[in-house]
Amino acid sequence: MKPAPFAYRRPGSLTEAVAALAGEPGAKVLAGGQSLVPLLSMRLAAPSMLVDINGLPGLDTITADHDGVTIGALARHADVLASADVRRTQPLVSMALAHVAHATIRNRGTTVGSLVHADAAAEMPVVLALLGGSLEVEGPSGRRTIAADELYVGPLESSVHHDEIAVSAFFPALAAGAGVAFDEIARRHGDYALVGAAALVEGDGADERVRVGYLSVCDVPTVVDLSGVPDDDLGDAALEHLDPAEDIHATADYRAQLVRVLTARVVRSARKGVTA
Ligand SMILES: Cc1cc2nc3c(=O)[nH]c(=O)nc-3n(C[C@H](O)[C@H](O)[C@H](O)COP(=O)(O)OP(=O)(O)OC[C@H]3O[C@@H](n4cnc5c(N)ncnc54)[C@H](O)[C@@H]3O)c2cc1C
Repeated sequence: MKPAPFAYRRPGSLTEAVAALAGEPGAKVLAGGQSLVPLLSMRLAAPSMLVDINGLPGLDTITADHDGVTIGALARHADVLASADVRRTQPLVSMALAHVAHATIRNRGTTVGSLVHADAAAEMPVVLALLGGSLEVEGPSGRRTIAADELYVGPLESSVHHDEIAVSAFFPALAAGAGVAFDEIARRHGDYALVGAAALVEGDGADERVRVGYLSVCDVPTVVDLSGVPDDDLGDAALEHLDPAEDIHATADYRAQLVRVLTARVVRSARKGVTA
């Protein structure tokens, strides 16, 4: 199939891009196109206009400092994955990105685009949610920051307004003494995961804080606090907060079992990453 007809704009500045979106309620932003173009081709989306942001200057930056990692809207997954600064500052970003799709898709797809697309089967939204990161967006009334816990409102639905452009994402740095881990089960490496899990462990002993985020389990990326739960009960404790979905890829029971296995695995690995 071919996409339904649409107008196409390729603005040269952020101001022009925001104005183009504001003037066309049926318009959509085009970034890497790795999610949007297939949707157009299958006619699951039929925007009246595409506002291509690939010509906007200054949005392809990746910076890391002691606070965290800031990823511009045109930074490709592959560039973020290749960054030693990102890996050092927040290794969970790199660990999860290694599971995102295949090399050709990572060469074009953007990390910020993945966050806005808000697919509960995608890796990066759950990483942003687990770490308590944020998205910086610009719209007709200026710039605002959306905290990760206010970003995901439903299946494939974020709280970014139709006339806003996400300009960057911020992932907090790994704190001293904390550990992170990521793992997922997919039919083939690079496919969307049947279930994935990311863990963040901070502190130790009675002060240990354990949180795990899940992808491909619920309608939205979901983070569960498992602090104080005995090791043998981690998976079942997580399932009290999750409602594993059934679809053509996996039954709900199979997903629940993967939650048990992956929860134990990522918490164990994240603890090993804890440094004194
Ligand atoms: C075969 C295949 C396998 C894949 N496997 C995975 C996988 O395993 N894991 C995974 O996470 N992803 C996977 N992807 C998706 C890939 O990661 C995409 O790159 C990503 O989801 C979207 O990024 P994009 O830049 O391509 O966005 P686009 O496709 O251009 O846009 C996606 C959506 O986000 C909006 N958008 C994008 N950028 C902005 C912005 N800056 N401001 C406002 N709105 C914006 C668009 O309007 C659109 O609605 C796969 C894709 C394919 C084709």
